[in-house]
Amino acid sequence: METLEILVKTQKIDISSFDPETYRKDFPILGEKVHGKPLVYFDNAATTQKPSSVIDTISDYYRHSNANVHRAIHELGDRATTAFEEARKKVAGFIGAKSERQIIFTRGTTEAINLVAAGWGRKFMEEGDEIILSEMEHHSNLIPWQILARETGARLRFIPFTDEGTIDFPVFEQLLSGKTKLIAITHMSNVFGTINPIKRIISMAHDRGVPVLLDAAQSVPHLPVDVEFLDCDFLAFSGHKMMGPTGIGVLYAKSRILENMNPYQGGGEMINSVWLENATWNEIPHKFEAGTPNIAGAVGLAAAIDYINKIGMVSMTLWEQELTTYALDKMSEIDGITIYGHAPERGGVISFNLLDIHPHDMSHLLDQSGIAVRAGHHCAQPIMRKLDIAATTRASFYFYNTKSEIDYFVEQLKQAKSFFGY
Ligand code: PMP
Repeated sequence: METLEILVKTQKIDISSFDPETYRKDFPILGEKVHGKPLVYFDNAATTQKPSSVIDTISDYYRHSNANVHRAIHELGDRATTAFEEARKKVAGFIGAKSERQIIFTRGTTEAINLVAAGWGRKFMEEGDEIILSEMEHHSNLIPWQILARETGARLRFIPFTDEGTIDFPVFEQLLSGKTKLIAITHMSNVFGTINPIKRIISMAHDRGVPVLLDAAQSVPHLPVDVEFLDCDFLAFSGHKMMGPTGIGVLYAKSRILENMNPYQGGGEMINSVWLENATWNEIPHKFEAGTPNIAGAVGLAAAIDYINKIGMVSMTLWEQELTTYALDKMSEIDGITIYGHAPERGGVISFNLLDIHPHDMSHLLDQSGIAVRAGHHCAQPIMRKLDIAATTRASFYFYNTKSEIDYFVEQLKQAKSFFGY
């Protein structure tokens, strides 16, 4: 069973009583006016807004606990270290990791994937080995592997996407071979919204002894994700897409793999003993955290997790599903709209074009009405090339969005048509 199936079949949550207004007041920025209009924030796939509890936790950390972690023998050092390590435990619990030793704090998804490419890839990849990616990857899960392939002589293979914006399984099966050393794939596409059938992909990979890295930048903030259930080998995500601050993210990996990997960066914290000519490495996860970490970021991320747990991830997911279905229905009624991505399992990301209105013009016009959407290639240029388009406009939702915001957005799309003379 894949994620949404599990939610629908096993959880008895009545989403009809979910009211985003209950939570909106926790987000000071959602009360902003933009160009004199109430803000409608539909750029959540890029980054999410932060509740007061996260903002206050970061501020309190600096007011009452700020010090460097791990080596300070004083009260503030203890407070900072405890807060940082408690945050690690919270992250582990949140994604169902067996141990906090499997949680490495990074700057975000991008750095987490680069860490794997450098620390695992450079050590284990050889000329002729193959890495399977999909054609729907964010540049973060493409460029690190391109660099690695150039360095090692490994070859990149790509699972095509179908007209629906889903993984082409028959081709995937053909690509899997004795040469495959890694599969690195997005859990949820930031362009199509597709939730890939990851459990199936992982079990096919593991049947052949191939490890799998999940780019979970779009899934961990929006779906219940359990690394033990999925049995993924690596998982990367970013705090800022789940109400945490920018500059903090996570790499999860199986302990055995982390222990065998090379360090990513050298410096303080990641060492055990140091001589002039050589050194030994610290235990995991510290072996991968050179230098002073983003302590306030980790503490803020932990506060974001508390906030999610208070609402309940399943409720958030189901509300986003409801919003997405509602938006898709309303948007489909607009003559001349093209929506990219029609996967049966999808999250709250809708990429579209309306006639030949350029996405930049569209987003500019929507901005004048207070609506924040994103226009461009969404860091997925290969998708745009395959679709033979320069860009799309993308609306992306979070649990704090409302149906009336969608009504207003659809109304503005219709007005855009007359504004541009259609
Ligand atoms: N992968 C996907 C699917 C994403 O949507 C993003 C963010 N747009 C990233 C990776 C990169 O995340 P970050 O910039 O936080 O490292």
